[in-house]
Amino acid sequence: MHLRRISIVPEKVVVIGSGPAAWAACIYTSRANLEPLCFEGAVTEENRLQGTLPLGQLALTTEVENYPGFPAGNLESYLNDSIEESKRKYMAPHTGHGVSGPELMELMRQQAKNFGTKVVTDDVVDIDFSSHPYKVTPSNGEPVEALAVIIATGARANYLGLDSENRFKNMGVSACAVCDGAMPRFRNHPLVVVGGGDSAMEEASYLTKFASKVYIVHRRDEFRASKIMADRALANEKIEVKWNSVIDEVLGNDEQGVTGVRIRSTVDESQTEELEATGYFAAIGHTPNVNFLKGQIDLNDKGFIQWQVPFRTNTNVDGVFAAGDVADDNYKQAITAAGSGCMAALDAERWLVANGYE
Ligand code: NAP
Repeated sequence: MHLRRISIVPEKVVVIGSGPAAWAACIYTSRANLEPLCFEGAVTEENRLQGTLPLGQLALTTEVENYPGFPAGNLESYLNDSIEESKRKYMAPHTGHGVSGPELMELMRQQAKNFGTKVVTDDVVDIDFSSHPYKVTPSNGEPVEALAVIIATGARANYLGLDSENRFKNMGVSACAVCDGAMPRFRNHPLVVVGGGDSAMEEASYLTKFASKVYIVHRRDEFRASKIMADRALANEKIEVKWNSVIDEVLGNDEQGVTGVRIRSTVDESQTEELEATGYFAAIGHTPNVNFLKGQIDLNDKGFIQWQVPFRTNTNVDGVFAAGDVADDNYKQAITAAGSGCMAALDAERWLVANGYE
């Protein structure tokens, strides 16, 4: 039997990603009747290990206390009401302390779906921008054609890669002091930050608001951080720097989570020391999720997508826009990501109109 090939109608907008930037872009493009197709990422072991599962970095955090509109409170009935049963039944129980990262992301996803976003749970593994409409290829299934593309694949925090880091993620291991620092387990206890750049200085200084003491563990005898931020950290009485040291292991147990770290000297490798701490923060940089772009989009010198004009989300490819952490090496917050997702949606919508695709 011969099947007649059905001509492919290009998607007006394809959104790639599933963090706050992606869902904000989906909500806005859905409401503009652009019927966005969103590739939210695949649920695979590889994505789990590298921190790139659907719903992004917020899904790896606990309480979110700095996203406007979600003060502390019990959201149990709201979550039951607003999220599809098929998703709700797999969510962790609500803590009652306010919205959690995973809850916030499920709410955003649901909001996008309510307005008609088509969600595909798969990774995009290839994109061809050499001819228009653009070709977007997922890891499973047929390629789709797209008139406009919004890239919102985020970034992943770099960790050292120790098994013990992985074991205690969400139990004292974090890569975001602003997100997690105020949690009870970190208050009035010593904490450890690893890294020597601006992020490490900022995280350590921020954590002194809560911690009894903060150790910065850095592998060299000088910081990479800007002088002003390094000086501020060094002048802080609660901060002690462990120079020329690397983390050998994050110490802890299943009941308490992190209880300390063992550090090793980079000058004399036989020298180790155990530091007591209830938290361990990796601040050794972020890696934007851009591999699937295979060099077709201009990046800045830190590897993040480069906006071509300040406060416009256009990339160097016509009709391709970038939002959220994949294009942000500076703010990296849920609210700034959501804001830029909205910007990308409006930019895409205007681009489609300007190019006659109404
Ligand atoms: P970064 O500048 O690349 O610094 C990463 C730090 O982590 C370096 O000190 C590096 O050590 C250390 N490191 C990397 N891999 C390591 C490993 N495997 N083991 C041990 N240590 C390791 O990254 P960042 O601090 O995240 O900053 C990224 C960018 O954002 C920078 O341009 C920064 O200026 C900017 N930023 C600005 C602000 C602000 O202005 N408020 C705040 C945060 C970030 P080495 O020094 O030995 O290489």
